[in-house]
Amino acid sequence: MSYLAKTDPAIADIIEKERLRQTNGLELIASENVVSHAVLEAMGSIMTNKYAEGYPGKRYYGGCEFHDMAENLARDRLKQLFGAEYANVQPHSGTQANMAVYFAYMKLGEKILSMKLNQGGHLSHGSPVSFTGKFYQVAQYGVDPKTEMLDYGIIEEMAKKEKPQIIVCGASAYPRTIDFKEFQSIADGVGAYCLADIAHIAGLCATGLHPNSVGVVNFTTTTTHKTLRGPRGGAIMCNADLGTLIDKAVFPGMQGGPLMHTITAKAVCFHEALQPSFKEYNKQIIKNAKVLAETLMENGLRLVSGGTDNHLMLLDLTEQGLTGLEAETALGKAGITVNKNTIPNETKSPFVTSGLRVGTPAVTSRGMKEAEMRLIGTWIATVIKNIQNEATIKDVHTKVEALSSKFTLYPE
Ligand code: PLP
Repeated sequence: MSYLAKTDPAIADIIEKERLRQTNGLELIASENVVSHAVLEAMGSIMTNKYAEGYPGKRYYGGCEFHDMAENLARDRLKQLFGAEYANVQPHSGTQANMAVYFAYMKLGEKILSMKLNQGGHLSHGSPVSFTGKFYQVAQYGVDPKTEMLDYGIIEEMAKKEKPQIIVCGASAYPRTIDFKEFQSIADGVGAYCLADIAHIAGLCATGLHPNSVGVVNFTTTTTHKTLRGPRGGAIMCNADLGTLIDKAVFPGMQGGPLMHTITAKAVCFHEALQPSFKEYNKQIIKNAKVLAETLMENGLRLVSGGTDNHLMLLDLTEQGLTGLEAETALGKAGITVNKNTIPNETKSPFVTSGLRVGTPAVTSRGMKEAEMRLIGTWIATVIKNIQNEATIKDVHTKVEALSSKFTLYPE
């Protein structure tokens, strides 16, 4: 940051403050992670200087030979990672990856069947405040009110009744395994396409720790910055015969010049994800989530669906008489970053909520294991049970800082 400190000290100061926040606290937001030095270097590189509209070998600008090489590597590595026939690495985000599939394979006004936002789905799956709810008709399934898990029988009934063009599966806040085969079979039964949005669980799918959607469903979309641990961005995979329309939908359909510095960093991320250590990392994410979930439950807190199969868990704070907002704020004071989240059968607004979403990808990247999860689980429970007690929260904060100092954010 030596140049920045000289030319723009205001921004350099903000970045330093954020570095300290990340270093001194515990990041338990399920959709966040800590990228490698190599990913950071690629993102901050001169690859940002270039316009490269089009695709490798078919660009609208001269001088793209090295950008072609970078994008080809990114595509090939992503295909290898998931066993995909086709990949597009240009979507600027997960939302835009989804948008490309809708634009390519739906007419305006056709119907999406997807998971409700307040039961775990994502805005880009059909919320009225997103383009999806404005451009398309939307029907939505939830979880079974008793088990708080997906009920494929009900989803099948809905699919038969609603006759959607695309069935979307995949979620932002669902702690259980998703049966992609079942979703594709439901879609096949009603002549619909199936889109699996694996943004959250992509790292688990790539390493076989959650069933892979690629080769099972028609389209897989993902973000690259969650369990995949890459730069912020999106990607799309499908069989080769469905790829041409996706390419056209991404560019020129809905984006201009690709973010080539990000695509270069995606290539680095996919290379890292192909290493055996990435599987070990994802195994540890799951082990950590299980121990954290057990610790929270042992401390009297209720988890939606009674536990977790993946990297995240949802805490239901109804019995404690607390809102997600209150708990998020108190934990923030203790240096533990989480986000308030709606839970199944939510009665409060998304700005207040009755739940918290907690995930282990970022703390696992810092090298924390089961022993640290037991400590963190106990501290979360302590703060929730003593939400008015500033001294207790301060005490937890001191412990959080002491633990964080033992797990460097960017080990050399
Ligand atoms: N899909 C799912 C399941 C997500 O959880 C998210 C983000 O949290 C997205 C899509 C959107 O990704 P982005 O924020 O990159 O648009």
